[in-house]
Amino acid sequence: MSHPKALATRALRGLRRVGNGVLDLVYPSRCLGCGARPESPQLPLCPRCLSGLERARPMEVAARLERLPTGGSAVETAHALWVFDKGGTLQAVQHALKYENRPRYGVPLGRLMGAAYAERHPPPDGVVPLPLHRTRRLERGYNQSAPLAEGAAAHLECPYRSDLLMRPHPTQSQTGLSRQARWANVQEAFRAAPTCAEGRWLLVDDVLTTGSTVAAAARALRAAGAEAASVLTLGLARH
Ligand SMILES: [Zn+2]
Repeated sequence: MSHPKALATRALRGLRRVGNGVLDLVYPSRCLGCGARPESPQLPLCPRCLSGLERARPMEVAARLERLPTGGSAVETAHALWVFDKGGTLQAVQHALKYENRPRYGVPLGRLMGAAYAERHPPPDGVVPLPLHRTRRLERGYNQSAPLAEGAAAHLECPYRSDLLMRPHPTQSQTGLSRQARWANVQEAFRAAPTCAEGRWLLVDDVLTTGSTVAAAARALRAAGAEAASVLTLGLARH
């Protein structure tokens, strides 16, 4: 039984979500970078802001994972599309995806992620969104990684598989935790379904910071028999 206050908070959140949806209908979307009207209403950024984003270098993504206690050994390849700066354009995009109930931006962004991945790697057997624990998903209303993974799967022409990876244990938010604490926090967070065996999967998440979360998710897939687990994120947090 939920506490009445918690129910009220949830109801208010729901109302705000409806409100945002109505606002989106009344005022057509603006570029989250500069406020201009974007040419494509599907993308949250105008072409100028989009081309102004700095591409993440694959070597830097790999180097980030190598700094983990296990060296990210469960991850076959890791790829991030853009560099993520605090207070930058990409953070505004991530915030909209995560907290402002604008999952519709996720699919076209995921398609761009899929295109960047396809430049270097063959398509996987399926794309797996990084799951949220049930409580977190209820709070937000949806998992922001899901539309990104759907878009990437659509571009790579492979199945979207949200059934392979579960997050049965709630974890503390990674924000503000040290590298070591982030690592310890997510080690037992994920469980993979036995159906993931004999597949090469691509895990999709929004932002890679230390890589602890995606590495733990990849490890769960490998422990359940997956042939390989690679990682694709929208952003690589600048260090
Ligand atoms: Zn713009």
